[in-house]
Amino acid sequence: MKKEDCIFCKIISGDIPSNTIYENSEFKVIMDIAPASKGHVLIIPKEHYANIYDIDVETAGRLFQLATVVARALKKALNCDGMNILQNNGLIAGQTVFHFHMHLIPRYEGDTVTVKWEEHSMEAADMEQLRKEICDAL
Ligand code: 5GP
Ligand code: ZN
Repeated sequence: MKKEDCIFCKIISGDIPSNTIYENSEFKVIMDIAPASKGHVLIIPKEHYANIYDIDVETAGRLFQLATVVARALKKALNCDGMNILQNNGLIAGQTVFHFHMHLIPRYEGDTVTVKWEEHSMEAADMEQLRKEICDAL
């Protein structure tokens, strides 16, 4: 996707308005337009990175530092019972906006948010083979 067609680039440039919580030279923190729960926010780097494979590790590190600060502010402001941090990469993983972003989703007793998967068992030998393949890729 070209940057000119990117909705988050347009939010960063101010062409599309957003409810901004915080911004600095590198990041913008906004309210999600269709929140999963009260206080669902997005942390968006101002530079266009498509996904986690694209963003540089230093920027990603600083983004998580900011996420930690924002999560604590959400907890303080909303008195939520929990918090999910979600970052989708690829269509299959639920990514709909192809400009890297991190979701902070406050959780409340009895809310309707689901972040759940089926658990699978795995043979020890297969697990070991998999472990080696991933180690080799690091
Ligand atoms: P994804 O599914 O890519 O991980 O998340 C994209 C998120 O961006 C969704 O939660 C969606 O509600 C949010 N979103 C999409 N368009 C806009 C917009 O124009 N403004 C804001 N604030 N959020 C948006
Ligand atoms: Zn973009």
